[in-house]
Amino acid sequence: MEYGEYKFEEIETSEKDFLLKLGREYSIYLEKVVHKTDEVLFELSREYGDYLKQIMPVEYNHVKYQLINMFHTSHCMKCGLCGNCPISDVFIIESAYGKKIKLGNNCVNSLFNLEISKWFKSYRQKRENIIKNIKKIEGLSALISECKNCKLSCNIPFGEVEKLKELLELMCKGLNLSWQQESLAENYLDGKKRLCA
Ligand SMILES: [Zn+2]
Repeated sequence: MEYGEYKFEEIETSEKDFLLKLGREYSIYLEKVVHKTDEVLFELSREYGDYLKQIMPVEYNHVKYQLINMFHTSHCMKCGLCGNCPISDVFIIESAYGKKIKLGNNCVNSLFNLEISKWFKSYRQKRENIIKNIKKIEGLSALISECKNCKLSCNIPFGEVEKLKELLELMCKGLNLSWQQESLAENYLDGKKRLCA
């Protein structure tokens, strides 16, 4: 009887060590799941900068032009090459002499012989999605942070964190959630589901 009790205690201690170790690893893991939207947007704008940088200059009328900017506008703008008007996605090219020309989708693609307008469309969509999901990204990140701060004394369901991590990653990449994922996120944000009991 006594021996049995002693053995039980021993198992409990080593289990505690195990859980503590797991807790530490888990804590590091949770750290990686948490995202801040300003960092996510910063990362996306870096992607934009990198894309612009890797586009080689092209020659137009014996002058080299570089793509320096792309933006969406609701103002009435005209393509400086073909005269198409209005253009809503605007691409600015600049020569070494500082001459700037505004281009529309078709002209930028054919001048650089690249699907630049397609890239920009997808970039713009990602950015819009991230901005649309700011509350969800911050909300779920805060929820996971809370779990870390409760010193992991509770039993966090690992599978649920995995699911939330997936959601966060999709949202941070500016991708859309499926309706099932959308409703899972809502359940956590409404407090209907909780990570820490
Ligand atoms: Zn044009």
